[in-house]
Amino acid sequence: MHICGICSEEISELYVVKEMLIGLRETFEYIKCSACGCLQIAKIPPNLSKYYPDDYYSLQVLKKKKSRFLRDYIRKSVALFNIQGKGVVGWILAFLKTPDPIHLVYRRAGLKPSDKLLDVGGGAGAHVLSLLHIGFKNVMSVDPFILKDVFYENTLIAKKSSLFDIREKYDLITFHHSLEHMPDQAKVISKAAELISQGGRILIRIPTVTSVAWEKYKENWVNLDAPRHFYLHSHFSIKLLAKKAGLKVLGLWNDSVSMQFWGSEQYIRDIPLMDARSYSQDKTASIFSDAQILDYQRTAIALNKEEKGDWICVILGK
Ligand SMILES: [Zn+2]
Repeated sequence: MHICGICSEEISELYVVKEMLIGLRETFEYIKCSACGCLQIAKIPPNLSKYYPDDYYSLQVLKKKKSRFLRDYIRKSVALFNIQGKGVVGWILAFLKTPDPIHLVYRRAGLKPSDKLLDVGGGAGAHVLSLLHIGFKNVMSVDPFILKDVFYENTLIAKKSSLFDIREKYDLITFHHSLEHMPDQAKVISKAAELISQGGRILIRIPTVTSVAWEKYKENWVNLDAPRHFYLHSHFSIKLLAKKAGLKVLGLWNDSVSMQFWGSEQYIRDIPLMDARSYSQDKTASIFSDAQILDYQRTAIALNKEEKGDWICVILGK
């Protein structure tokens, strides 16, 4: 018998899940709480670094891009318009470019260019760097697993440090698909709550079991991602976690994408995410037609509207 890491109820529902991102196919036990709905790893493996490939995307050091004035100006104007809903140039140009979905997420989180932002578990600082490029000044990522501090043109963008060593206050604290990798969920959220300024917010982007993808694929659900994801929250359990930390849920919506289907369909056929036949590695060598992928994209959009997609964005505040 196991105890739920979120609501402390006893759990007996067990799943055995294979490592399929790299394709090690080693198995791990996951348990699902019938009280709060949270799916969680039964025991965190001791040697976790083994399950993070050397080129794990979020830990890569970012290379400097060549600056091109006009391209940069357009990108910045459109991004700021999408985040703030302000700016005539950005408004006009926004018709020409599909908005970056992350900018629309920031808009719903109420982010302003003058805000101080901390991205938790942000690897080498990709999210921070993209904000820096469009004029944000007070942005930093914190991640204990990077090799060393990461600078971009003398600005510290990623600090090799734990959230628990941070003392300053922030207007927005973000977890872009990082909270599910962290063992002590209640402690992490309480610490983040402590670090937000008056009127400050926390943005969590995370996979969820309150989804058709989990119901349909279970152990083959690509975003379960054993053993890297320790907690796969339900809508209910993430709200419970927030409540226990004295936080209110100010917004919860879906932003799932087609990968929930093509990735899970590959796992059913024993094709790992990093395999040469994977859609993520080589679209033409994959088992999917363009029409099939388009269908998955449309289904993801429809599920997001019904709040049954497998990724959610949650905004928390006091
Ligand atoms: Zn529970």
